[in-house]
Amino acid sequence: MPTARDETPIRGIPGSRGIAIGTAVVLEQSPPAVEQYFLPNELVAGEIGRLNLSVYNAIEQIRHLRNRISAAPTTDHIQMLDLHEQMLRDPQFVGEALEIIRAEHINAEWAVRKATVRIRDIFDNLESGYFRERKDDLDSVSERLLRHLAGQSSELGSNIPPNAIIIAQSLSPGDMAELHDKNIGGFATEYGSYTAHTTIIARSLEIPAVVGARSVCSMVQNGTAVIIDGNSGLVVLNPSAETVAQYQAAQDTFVTLCKKLRRNRKERAVTEDGHIIKLLGNLDFVDELAALVDVGGQGVGLLRTEYLFVNRHSLPNEEEQYEHYRSIISAVAPARTTIRTLDIGDDKLTSGSRFPPELRPFQALRAIRYCLKEKAIFRTQLRALLRASIHGRLRIMIPYVSSVDEIREVRLLLAEVKRELTEDGLVYDPDVPLGVMIEIPAAVVLADLLAQEADFFSVGTNDLIQYSLAVARHEEETNHLYQPLHPAMLRTLQHVAEAAKRGGIEVSICGEMAGDPLYTMVLLALGYSELSMAPQHIPLVKHIVRQTRLPECYDLLCSLMAMATVQEVNQFVAERMTTRFPELFLR
Ligand code: PEP
Ligand code: MG
Repeated sequence: MPTARDETPIRGIPGSRGIAIGTAVVLEQSPPAVEQYFLPNELVAGEIGRLNLSVYNAIEQIRHLRNRISAAPTTDHIQMLDLHEQMLRDPQFVGEALEIIRAEHINAEWAVRKATVRIRDIFDNLESGYFRERKDDLDSVSERLLRHLAGQSSELGSNIPPNAIIIAQSLSPGDMAELHDKNIGGFATEYGSYTAHTTIIARSLEIPAVVGARSVCSMVQNGTAVIIDGNSGLVVLNPSAETVAQYQAAQDTFVTLCKKLRRNRKERAVTEDGHIIKLLGNLDFVDELAALVDVGGQGVGLLRTEYLFVNRHSLPNEEEQYEHYRSIISAVAPARTTIRTLDIGDDKLTSGSRFPPELRPFQALRAIRYCLKEKAIFRTQLRALLRASIHGRLRIMIPYVSSVDEIREVRLLLAEVKRELTEDGLVYDPDVPLGVMIEIPAAVVLADLLAQEADFFSVGTNDLIQYSLAVARHEEETNHLYQPLHPAMLRTLQHVAEAAKRGGIEVSICGEMAGDPLYTMVLLALGYSELSMAPQHIPLVKHIVRQTRLPECYDLLCSLMAMATVQEVNQFVAERMTTRFPELFLR
């Protein structure tokens, strides 16, 4: 067994490229265990004092957090913190717990638990959506109080020094939204996968990350020296001076390579034989625009709108959404911005829910299905999008489409929303293209029919691979089965590109596959000349595009199509790409 001070490597999954060397901050995520014990008479007053002190400390902590929050996307967080403070001051909750200590002579933790359960029961009987959300707040407040009683005051995002290496069981996309302005150095999580949304955001923010590093939490303590090697998926604990020096050298090489590649920012993404390829950015937050401009991205191929809706208490209204979309569309103009309508389900809308949403990968009532059920939410988004359309070149993209009916229903709704806007005297571009994401196998099968209804396709390989191969994209245990180059995926992608071509519409890929340089030649051969990815990958993919010829790509694909197993395909592609581009693939 390694001792706490031995250099210990832990293998995980490479999540986001880059190397980070620093000190660990372990995020406490599970609520402290609570035991019940009885108190003799003389200790009851002291126990009441202990609870009051914890309430005071929890309120102070909330105020501290509130003062640190300054800007979007977390402004609405302030409302939530205010509400939590009110709850801590509410005699119904804390008063109930104090009364339980007095009457039953039990410890403060148990009394808080009991009071929480009683108030939850009251909320349950009220059966209103508002109170259902308040139950999550009640749980958060109760958990905060229990942490203070247990002497742990840590809070996600508080007390995290710059360049800290975050170690956690899992981080949700909401957590990343909170951590994203904290300048963390890198992170390692026990759960997660390459295409989990948290990892996708890490790549966009250029934060080195290793995910699926089982047991990392139990082996690391606050202050442990850690190296995150996001290139190979290794977490090194207590590295020796020699290892640190090696990684520092590797980091320098990596930074130099990135800088060198970024020199191609002004070059066109054109193959050696003259085929023009479009390389676009996937964005989650407005401030990622700078990175996109920095690498010379040719527009936004996917703007996820979910992050405007999570970590907050109320839905963003039309005005707030309009401003958000307007700022991006106008900054990207004259290039095009493709905005995806809300891809969210019930679970993510519930504020305060801290469990990783990836635990529900096959959640069915998501995205367009959710929007067509909750039409008021969808209408507001469509109104805001249409109003913002006059500030540049917008395309609206519908996620999770599985039938022709859905796109028809969206078109009807869009027509209604346009009529309303005209009646309200508001202007919009009447010809905003409406496209669909191809990410459910049913959409692949119907691609010829969908191509007659949609103005463009964008293939969401992250979901398409999981649903085609029946492998949850977020599960690290089945990571080995999540195979982008599976012979079934090659045929699927070829079928979609051909259907789009026959239907005379544009097709692109916006899943993570588009940004992995290992796949660039294959995707070009399959017929994709528009690829949208995390901005930091654009220089790598452009490097390959500029040094390849289409016949060479077709040759490669021809060999792959003759192979029956994914192992053969993977090995062939790895060997070919390493030989052709050793500067990118040889470490
Ligand atoms: C996809 O599924 O490939 C995609 C781009 O959408 P998301 O990752 O947000 O599900
Ligand atoms: Mg998807």
